[in-house]
Parts: sequence; C-alpha cells; structure tokens
Amino acid sequence: MSVWVVVQPPLPVWSFIAQAAREATTIDSMSGIRERLNRGVVIGGEGYLFELERRGYVKAGPFVPEVVLDFPEAVRELHREMLRAGAEVMVAFTYYGHREKLRSIGREADLEPLNRLALRLARDVASEGDELMAGNICNTWVYDPDAPDSSGEIVREMYREQVRWAAEEGADLIISETHDYLGEALISLEAVQESGLPSIVTFASTDDVTIDGYEFDEACRQLEANGADLVGLNCSRGPQTMLPILERIRAAVDCHVAAQPVPYRTTPAQPNFEALKDVDGTRGFPLALEPFLCNRFEMADFAASARDLGVNYIGVCCGGAPHYVRAMAERLGRTVPASRYSPDMAQHPILGENVGEQAKRFVNWKD
Ligand SMILES: [Zn+2]
Repeated sequence: MSVWVVVQPPLPVWSFIAQAAREATTIDSMSGIRERLNRGVVIGGEGYLFELERRGYVKAGPFVPEVVLDFPEAVRELHREMLRAGAEVMVAFTYYGHREKLRSIGREADLEPLNRLALRLARDVASEGDELMAGNICNTWVYDPDAPDSSGEIVREMYREQVRWAAEEGADLIISETHDYLGEALISLEAVQESGLPSIVTFASTDDVTIDGYEFDEACRQLEANGADLVGLNCSRGPQTMLPILERIRAAVDCHVAAQPVPYRTTPAQPNFEALKDVDGTRGFPLALEPFLCNRFEMADFAASARDLGVNYIGVCCGGAPHYVRAMAERLGRTVPASRYSPDMAQHPILGENVGEQAKRFVNWKD
C-alpha cells in the first residue's frame, strides 16, 4: 500500500491576510469614490510632503518627492499610518512630482519611474485596507495667466502624462490640488476627464480670490459646470479661516465639496500659513511653523464643523499627520484600526482617576 503524502510549503499568515484583503477589495470594487460619498463623508489624509521632510526624506526648498525612489519604505509606512488612522483614500505621493519639478533638480529621467512607483505604493497600501487609491496632480508653477494658451498647453501635457500613468496603475480617482489659478485648475480637470476617472479639484487660497481673479465660490462653480465631481479647498488656510469660504462654496455648488486645511492656527489677520508670524515677527513658513500647530482636538472640531456645513470629503494637508486624521475620524463617529491605541487618560498615573500621593509629587499639583 502506498501512502501519498502531499508536502506543501507552509503558507505564511500574511498570505491569507493579503488574500482576504484582495477579496474584500473585489467586493468593494463596486464602491468607488462616488458611491462612498453618497453614503456619507469620505475621510482623506495628506501632508506627505511636510511630514516626510520632518522625517528627513524630503529636501525643503525644492520639495520634490524623491523619497519615493530613494526610500520607498518610508512612503509605504506613512501610507499605512494614514490608513490605520482612518484615511479612506491613499493619495499617491506625486505632489510636485511633475516634469517641471523633476527637471529643476536634474532628475527628469526619473519622472515616470517615480510616478509609477508612488502609485504602486499607494495602491498596495489601499488594498491592505479595502480603500481607494488616488493619483495626484498639482500646481505647476508653469501656468502664466498672461499667456494662458501657450503656457496652458505645456501644463496640459504635464498633467496628461501624470494622469495617464495614474490610470494605467489603477487609480480610482485623481486629486488635482493646490491650485492658484482657475485657468490651470480647468486644464487639470480636462486632463482628468480624458481618463474617465472621478475628479477632486481644489484651490489653495492665499488671498480672497484666485490669482487670476475669481472668488473661490465662483471658481468652484465653474469647475462644477465643467464636470468636476468634487470641488473645494486644500492647503494654505487653517480651520478658522477656511470654514467661512467653504460655507460660500457649499452654497454656490450642488456637487460634493472637499476640504483639506493645514493644521495651523491661521487668523483673519494672518489667514494662511504663509502669512503666520511669530511674536518677534519671524515668518513661520515653511520650516518654523510648530508654534502655530493646531492640536488634535481643534482638527476634530474642524471635521465636525465641516460635516455640519455639508462638506463631503474631509482631510488634512501640509502639516498633517496621522494623529490628526484619527482624531477627525473618531469625531465623525468612526472606529479605525489605530483607535485600539486611542487615549485613555483615566489610566494616566498623574492625570487619571486614582492619583496617589506619590504620583502627585511629579507635578506641581494644585488641587
Ligand atoms: Zn498642503
């Protein structure tokens, strides 16, 4: 009698987890950004450029995402942290990863490999959590409102190649952001529409109007009229100075509205983070902004206020970090993977419920 023994190499646990993630992704593949928005608020999470600069992987000044090629695991890790914090869209780190920026640092030959790898990193992590992956295009510094046609054609080709790579790498949507000009934003929208992918198009508002002279509610209305899925604001303004403009945008459009502020305490006198000045008059932007940071509770308050205004996509931009996203997600009623480690101050030895006499010696305890 012969006995057949089938010897199979043991499958590592992660292979089952990955398989489950793939199946979940398949099930939820019916649920793109449009379907998710119809169910409720979608949580975003950005700020990769500033956060990876703080971690020592991005050179401030040029601010080009070379880290994608040089230290891809650093990008993957930050995606994972955002995913665990509750971000539903993994945004490929291609901000300032366009031809003009790569050329400016002598790495134009790396343009396509950088874009494709950034998209794959975001796709991989999104698939781990049944979430979406977004391609990302942005302001170019090439568009010239005094020569909109000639400069616009250069910009259009820059957007087209990035959007094409994003579509080929399986992006679920494209986020076109940090726009200063309605003219450039409209060109980006056209490039996205050529791909057939949903679009989020947002302005950075350093002034009360776009640099080409449109009120932001009017600029967003024109984006909607040209078929954008979501319109709104990102970057530049903190919660306090972004909310009033969001209210006007919400009233001006019928489509979904997106808001991704910077987590800084901007004020009516200093309405954007470029304008923030310390008490001695020193400009904080972009490397000395820490004194102006919002705390996590302020960002959670923003998320609730934006939701109450009718904003549909809520996230964070430059200065953002995973702890903000978790606080915002939890304020919106979510329990996210990182909620396992959310604060429980009742257990704190000094601030908790049962502070002993010995523990009180560690602080200047008044009551
Ligand atoms: Zn930003």
